[in-house]
Amino acid sequence: MIIGINAPDACRPGIEDIIRVFYRGFEIKPAAPGAGHDIEITLSLEQSDGYLLAAAGIQSANLERTHMEKEPVIPGSDLENESKRLARLAVYRLLEGVKAGCPTPWGIMTGIRPTKVVHRIMDGGLAPEGVIKALTEKFAVTPEKAALITEIALHQRPFLPAHPGTSREIGVYAGIPFCPSRCLYCSFPAYPREKYRHWVAPYVNALLQEIKAVGEAVKAASLNVRCIYLGGGTPTCLEPAQLAAVLEALNQNLPVTADRELTVEGGRPETLSAEVIDIIRAAGATRLSINPQTMQERTLRVIGRHHTVRDVMDAMERARSAGLETINMDIIAGLPGETAGDMRDTLGRIAALRPENLSVHTLAVKRAARLSREIDQYPLPSPGSTGAMLEEARRRAGLMGMVPYYMYRQKNMLGNLENIGYALPGRECLYNIMIMEERHSIIGLGAGAGSKYVMPGGMLYNRYNPKDPRLYVERLEEIIQKKKRGIAALNRA
Ligand code: SF4
Repeated sequence: MIIGINAPDACRPGIEDIIRVFYRGFEIKPAAPGAGHDIEITLSLEQSDGYLLAAAGIQSANLERTHMEKEPVIPGSDLENESKRLARLAVYRLLEGVKAGCPTPWGIMTGIRPTKVVHRIMDGGLAPEGVIKALTEKFAVTPEKAALITEIALHQRPFLPAHPGTSREIGVYAGIPFCPSRCLYCSFPAYPREKYRHWVAPYVNALLQEIKAVGEAVKAASLNVRCIYLGGGTPTCLEPAQLAAVLEALNQNLPVTADRELTVEGGRPETLSAEVIDIIRAAGATRLSINPQTMQERTLRVIGRHHTVRDVMDAMERARSAGLETINMDIIAGLPGETAGDMRDTLGRIAALRPENLSVHTLAVKRAARLSREIDQYPLPSPGSTGAMLEEARRRAGLMGMVPYYMYRQKNMLGNLENIGYALPGRECLYNIMIMEERHSIIGLGAGAGSKYVMPGGMLYNRYNPKDPRLYVERLEEIIQKKKRGIAALNRA
């Protein structure tokens, strides 16, 4: 089936996102005479007598319907953005009527970070009840989700500068793009370590050089590093000496604040030997992520994790004995073949391990993942069942004394749901808040790492290192020069 769109160019990408929520798998293209589409969706925008008007229409062989949204123009508001939002809202409300319901609780919040929107509304001085009302009316978010993101944003406010880009504190991310094996659902640059073993040493050497150069540039720009995140991939699958060298380089070269946070992603529990945990502890890591994803042996085999539930428990025990302060555990709702009962069991086993953080993801079927190519072989839970798993996770996190403190959404998540990070109060990971809310700059080091340069006023420049580790090594000098210029610009801003 083909859907033709007739809408102003600036609004088209946002409208396409909304249409995809209602019509999955349809081809969408600009409407044109003789283009042969089965459905035509039109959108027109107008400003008249102090109001913005968005009129949406749908036409097919047996259907013709229109919907109009009208809002007063608020003086000082960003008219371009408001017009795009109203256009999406008009199309959403139109299709909600046509399809007799909404397939997502998130309304028109596609392709945007929900809590960033909440912060923008809060910056305007609205009280929480007003924020929830604005989210339900202007973004078509359900009252439950509106309350959830308002709660998260309120929790984050003390960690954020009042205005984007005004903090002299930044974050640093360093990535290790190697893993013991590749998970079924993985879409990251994560190269199986055994197969690409010959790439690892040159890669680590290049990363050490980038860390040193960035450390000098950050010092020259009089910035301070408040949080460091060593992620991947699986950093803990490096040889112990390589891992120690990377952690030492981060600690020695970056000008850190006295209260600097250092997270090490130990994603695969089987990599967390006593020696590796000792290196992480000696480096002064404040947070370690041990990620079971599920505590069901059967599912671990299906998703290609190559570790057992026992490995998770052993890693946790070693981390606790070493005295690591904050442990995070990641789980995924919606894994192939899992039921709400499996999730309940997983959460019960995790609660018994008493982590300080729990990150609950919804499975996303990404194009680059093996799961996407072999989807027919892996029955996935229904959106309703996945939603029930998230609800159960929320309930259990609450019973563990945790609060939701960051969230994000991605494309192609089961049931158009969300990922939520929970933490015991006082154990929040600042890096996770920084990366989602984009009020601090973050410098990304290593293959595929993204840097976010946030200027005062909120202008955000995203820049990426090459994904391929060989290209990263080959182009290191050029990468370093670009990064130095980006960091120097932060100082001039
Ligand atoms: S552990 Fe993470 S990065 Fe590594 S293969 Fe699995 S999903 Fe990808």
